[in-house]
Amino acid sequence: NMKIEIIKCLKDNYSYLIVDEISKNACVIDPGEAKPIIKFIENNKINLKFILNTHHHYDHVGGNVELKKKYNSSIVGFKGDKDRIPEIDVLVQDNQIWKSENFEAKIFHVPGHTSGHIAFHFFKEKKIFTGDTLFSLGCGRVFEGTHEQMFNSLNKFKKLSFDTEIYCGHEYTMHNSYFCSANDPQNLDLKKKIFQIKEKIKNGLPTIPSILADEVKCNIFLKAKDLKSFSKLRDLKDNF
Ligand code: ZN
Ligand code: FE
Repeated sequence: NMKIEIIKCLKDNYSYLIVDEISKNACVIDPGEAKPIIKFIENNKINLKFILNTHHHYDHVGGNVELKKKYNSSIVGFKGDKDRIPEIDVLVQDNQIWKSENFEAKIFHVPGHTSGHIAFHFFKEKKIFTGDTLFSLGCGRVFEGTHEQMFNSLNKFKKLSFDTEIYCGHEYTMHNSYFCSANDPQNLDLKKKIFQIKEKIKNGLPTIPSILADEVKCNIFLKAKDLKSFSKLRDLKDNF
């Protein structure tokens, strides 16, 4: 049985530990910094076997070197980013199944935010780690890719089973909700979702995970019918 631990890093990043509850072996997704991860690992007697990176940005790989040195973990990342993911060991590519110990994830290459961005789909657990590509009620800024790449990448997620849990790289949900509301004011599902988000934030809880069913109904970027409307929204959001 795999348990997900949500660990806050830096200002508003989330790092996630996927812990095999029996062996206590674990993977960490996107350690933006080492310190909070080490604290959790030491308190819970976990073996950090793998470090999985969705992309090369500092706030997602900042803890790589220190964690690898301390726990002798293997670093897994996109083949095309082998020169910019610090200390990468295992190179993965689109559609590949990465498997080790009891961990098994399908790799989705989802360019747009960066050219080498990937998502890790733990299909047995119905959980996907989307980094800075899909956020709850938003999507990442297009830095290296094109709007078309980002649009196609987001559409890949829509093909997953709607009960899939979405674990993204940042706590941006509340701010994202303002943009969705402004552009989709009649959406009752969105209003309901925002109510739930506010409750969580009020109680000091993460708004993550979200669930794909909610995102498809409420996330304005997933609702975009075509590339043109997606591009327009993405440009508007950049200046929102
Ligand atoms: Zn990023
Ligand atoms: Fe980020």
